Amino acid sequence: MARYTGPDCKLCRREGCKLFLKGDRCTSGKCPFDRVESGARNRDAAPAAPGQHGAAKKKLREYGMQLREKEKVKRFYGVLERQFHNYYLKAANMEGMAGENLLVLLERRLDNSVFRMGFGQSRDEARQLTLHDHITVNGKKVNIPSYMVKVGDVIAVSEVGRSDAIKALIEAMASKNTPKWLEVDAEHACAKVVALPTREDVNFNFNEQLIVELYSK
Ligand code: SF4
Repeated sequence: MARYTGPDCKLCRREGCKLFLKGDRCTSGKCPFDRVESGARNRDAAPAAPGQHGAAKKKLREYGMQLREKEKVKRFYGVLERQFHNYYLKAANMEGMAGENLLVLLERRLDNSVFRMGFGQSRDEARQLTLHDHITVNGKKVNIPSYMVKVGDVIAVSEVGRSDAIKALIEAMASKNTPKWLEVDAEHACAKVVALPTREDVNFNFNEQLIVELYSK
């Protein structure tokens, strides 16, 4: 399965905002965006976009803004182009707003659900847990990060997967805010999907309408 393996911070720099791809590091003050805000670097400069001409200020036109919004969502959820387009096609054929449906479909991915349960510091870590057979759904091992969770599913960390690091994360769960569509049982390292996520449960301020406009051309 192809996926991006380069530096995560580079993706945030390209999008010009924090995408929270590296777990605790993103809130530890070591994030390049925080270093700018705290004045350790040039106060007026956001971290430059990667590449030789990254520091050059470019005014985006309509198409550019739509493209960047699509890339932002893809990178946030760790999905590549073809799979993302398939999500869009599915979302467009569902009832309701295509943009909202798209985000809800992405939110329902198993790797995202594991992350939102708090059993991984980042979506990448949750994906690793899934790929390495540490996650079960309704008692059966599921190692497909794109698996769509549905109401009533019980997602759990397998006995083998309960390493010290996972145990520490699970214990830290008690103080975390989990979305209302997941009912987490930290003691048994599992969570039940009690409802489907809605647009309000997506904890990032995306402008999904731009993506719909891009794909509608
Ligand atoms: Fe890097 Fe996280 Fe900051 Fe993004 S939010 S630039 S991944 S530290």
